[in-house]
Amino acid sequence: MTDKFMSMKNLKFTLHSRGGKYCSKTPDYLKDHTAKTIDLVLKAAFDLGKKAMHPMFEEMDRQPPALINGNVLVHKGVRPMLETLGKDGWISASFPEKWKGDDMPASLIHCINFIFAAANYSASVYAGLTMGAANLILSFGSEKLKNIYLSPLLAGKWQGTMALTEPEAGSSLGDLCCEALPVEEGHYKINGEKIFISAGDHDGVDNVIHLMLARIKGAPSGTKGISLFLVPKFRPDEQGNLMDNDLIVTQVFHKLGYRGAPIVGLRMGEKDNCTGYLVGRENKGLSYMFQMMNGARLEVGMGATAIATAAYHAALDYCRTRHQGRKITAPKDSAPVPIIQHPDVKRMLLFQRAVAEGSLALILQCGMYEDILARDPSQTDCHLLLELLTPIAKTYPSEMGILSTSNAIQCFGGYGYCDDFPVEQHFRDMRIHTIHEGTTGIQGMDLLARKVTAENGRAMVLLKEEILLTAEKAGRWAELEDMADTLLSNITLLEKVTMEMTAVAGKKGLDAYLANATLYLEMFGIVVIAWQWLSMAQKAAEKLEQERTKKTDRLFYEGKIHVATYFYSHELARVKSLSMTLQSETMVTLAMPEVCFTD
Ligand SMILES: Cc1cc2nc3c(=O)[nH]c(=O)nc-3n(C[C@H](O)[C@H](O)[C@H](O)COP(=O)(O)OP(=O)(O)OC[C@H]3O[C@@H](n4cnc5c(N)ncnc54)[C@H](O)[C@@H]3O)c2cc1C
Repeated sequence: MTDKFMSMKNLKFTLHSRGGKYCSKTPDYLKDHTAKTIDLVLKAAFDLGKKAMHPMFEEMDRQPPALINGNVLVHKGVRPMLETLGKDGWISASFPEKWKGDDMPASLIHCINFIFAAANYSASVYAGLTMGAANLILSFGSEKLKNIYLSPLLAGKWQGTMALTEPEAGSSLGDLCCEALPVEEGHYKINGEKIFISAGDHDGVDNVIHLMLARIKGAPSGTKGISLFLVPKFRPDEQGNLMDNDLIVTQVFHKLGYRGAPIVGLRMGEKDNCTGYLVGRENKGLSYMFQMMNGARLEVGMGATAIATAAYHAALDYCRTRHQGRKITAPKDSAPVPIIQHPDVKRMLLFQRAVAEGSLALILQCGMYEDILARDPSQTDCHLLLELLTPIAKTYPSEMGILSTSNAIQCFGGYGYCDDFPVEQHFRDMRIHTIHEGTTGIQGMDLLARKVTAENGRAMVLLKEEILLTAEKAGRWAELEDMADTLLSNITLLEKVTMEMTAVAGKKGLDAYLANATLYLEMFGIVVIAWQWLSMAQKAAEKLEQERTKKTDRLFYEGKIHVATYFYSHELARVKSLSMTLQSETMVTLAMPEVCFTD
């Protein structure tokens, strides 16, 4: 098995080749990090991923978490890994100095998460969840909550979770019914059930801190009555002793993939003694969660990107060494050739690279908008762009990653289907990403109903400006001129489809408008990734012009332009057929009566 799970050269190229007007306008968005300090951080992350996470990639999958006597037992490597991630400051990296953090910019955090997830997706999730939970406490929690909970969480001694889902409330969180009864100022008794909670309990830490959504007794129904609570597995008393908090694990789910991390069912308040602490204000829980949701959705997209990347590297390695068949024109008695020489195998590798590297570019582009906003919250255009692109950055890598890892299996032939090689695990690990943090269906509706229409469609106008800038710049290179023109005609088509669909909303109602939201998201995603590929091709062309560019680097840049060309000829072409479906007057999905789904 190859231990090459990512390319540092590609990661650095992508980080430094982001496009659009904001990139040049605000060169200080990476804070005080120079190329040199960035290199050092990325190298340290890579070493940790390689030494502490990658070696247990397979074992964590083969020995999944188990519920034994009420305790969730996970791989023995989880505890030392979390201790190291805490001790060496990886969990606190994005936090302010007060919390022993480095105040690291989002772009760099995304790169670190990419490296860890490519090394071992399941292993990377534990610390990622803790960072998310700690972030909520930092942003909305009282000083008391911060003082008690942040340090052990950031030290990797305690686990953080996001506990939203209930048996009857998944996509529709407004229906959740976990109850919070006020008992004294700021304290509540929690009663209810949660399911599918990632890292919801395990023996790799001493305590688990749930950032949990619940409804205060008497609160309004729906999304307006949901509050956020901190619910610890063990509550620390005044002396710091950990007391049982009446929170039990009802089950550990057996999953298709991502098996190295537990997802659990939880029951709170069986003995009427589960305490929760209000975070922020009453009934604001969902809006707090949504403020964190962009980051969480980008992380899901990055997880998918990382898995697709690791699978691509495994496939590339195999295709270079596996000899099978001959070139169609070669003599029959000639020796078999490495399969990478067959055009159809090259097609599969091109597809995987196009998906993985295009997705990485998009998430880092979003990271740039996050960083500009963190520096200067008045840059509201960046906010609009980030909002518009987030459902795409979550969904494109996740949906296309399924096809990409499937192609990785295909490169291995029969071996790909067996567990001798890592690609079958990558395929299984990939599958969750279209489901958690809002399914693809929910992302499509979010894009069409909220993001595209916000501020009278201003985000679309801004995106078009960004794309025009990239096309104009790339058009200066003769070999990129066609791609630049094609991108412009595709953004015009996307605008036209958007306007026609908006007209449908007026004529036929919201149901009709949103019926094909997922297909619209798919079309939008391809155009956005084409933009990223043109931006990368332009940077590569620029590098190729420089005489001092080394020969090996030249191959890398030439490869970039080849993959961009592949994306335009093979992937962008799909936009046309999607547009035809979206422009069709027949509302076939809406019109199909449920009763006609006969057995
Ligand atoms: C491995 C794993 C890890 C998870 N981790 C966490 C976690 O850490 N914390 C947490 O709180 N939750 C977690 N979840 C739960 C996850 O977020 C939910 O499974 C997800 O939101 C979907 O909810 P559901 O399973 O109830 O599916 P449902 O909401 O029942 O959806 C089923 C299908 O119906 C579609 N659908 C539903 N409503 C609509 C609609 N209005 N319009 C169109 N289509 C619709 C969906 O798109 C989907 O295809 C995890 C789940 C898994 C499997």
